[in-house]
Amino acid sequence: MSNATVAKHPCPECGGDLQWNAAKQALVCPYCGTVAKWTPAQPADPGTAVVEQDLEQALRDPAVNRDWGEQRREIQCQSCHAISVFVDGRVAQRCDFCGSPSIIAHESQKDAITPQSLLPFKISDGQVRDLIRKWYGSRWFAPDKLKRAALTDTLHGIYLPYWTFDAHVSARWTAEAGYYYYETETYRDAQGNTQRRQVRHTRWQSASGQLAHFFDDELVPGTGGVDSGLLAGVEPFPTTTDLTAYSPEFVRGWTVERYQIDLRKASELNRADMDRQVYQLCSQQVPGDTQRNLQVNAAYQGRTFKHVLMPVWLVSYTYGSRRFQIVANGYTGKIAGKHPYSWVKIFFAVLAALIAAGIVLYFIDSQ
Ligand SMILES: [Zn+2]
Ligand SMILES: [Zn+2]
Repeated sequence: MSNATVAKHPCPECGGDLQWNAAKQALVCPYCGTVAKWTPAQPADPGTAVVEQDLEQALRDPAVNRDWGEQRREIQCQSCHAISVFVDGRVAQRCDFCGSPSIIAHESQKDAITPQSLLPFKISDGQVRDLIRKWYGSRWFAPDKLKRAALTDTLHGIYLPYWTFDAHVSARWTAEAGYYYYETETYRDAQGNTQRRQVRHTRWQSASGQLAHFFDDELVPGTGGVDSGLLAGVEPFPTTTDLTAYSPEFVRGWTVERYQIDLRKASELNRADMDRQVYQLCSQQVPGDTQRNLQVNAAYQGRTFKHVLMPVWLVSYTYGSRRFQIVANGYTGKIAGKHPYSWVKIFFAVLAALIAAGIVLYFIDSQ
């Protein structure tokens, strides 16, 4: 992608820099309030569609596709090591991922791959506060401090880095397919009587086959700032609708996390994941009742990738000396979080249960 393809959309009224507004689902001018119409790029639109890039070429030539379309500033947290990117000249005082104030300027790497596309925020901060409040309501033993943390200014909208991969795979497999058959055997039981029983045997027969499969938009997270277990809890992020071509308007005013799993590492993770899936698919083709010695020979063609940004809302707080995160999918509103337990609440719940049990026993006793 060259400079020319990073589209800029100045405000049609005053020429100011537009910003994405999740509540209005539109680009809005922060200076004059003009709302600019926006529709997601349609895959059929030439020029605006989100383009897949050749993986091998990108790994060979890391110089392509490095323009963020705007002067950017990167900071790294000394506590959790997350790297945040700002394209709007903002200066952060604290890390958005863990709240630590120990942040230092991070040398913007020349070879940092620019996102090609992103999923704009659909859940506004007001909506996500409601969702977190409900989520909190279902956590009985969470301390009240959590509720306050969820409702105050520790809520951050962050675009997380993801890699998506496509590939065609053709595979050949060989295996031994096992077919069950039963034989009747006679044996003597403990009393010395002759008995009959059915015994299962397996007849093994060699089998082979072929598989052709297309992997479409396999996601690999590139984040270093968000707990991977929590992230898995708020996935999936849809990649077929509403994905729009990257432009600075969408990330201005939001924090972007710089990926820490690079393209090479991500492509290796993706390959291992596809290998696992291909093995599974071949295994399903083996006939018979059981199988063994499945050998798969897979060839991948046309591997392509995109670097995309996915929206999450993040609440990060410390409780005692421990750090907790609540993550909400900025598109679907799905929430995953860890929270400490309030021993005071648990103590009173146990006490109440004991009192209730005591009352029941008292009445049983007195009858
Ligand atoms: Zn304006
Ligand atoms: Zn941090």
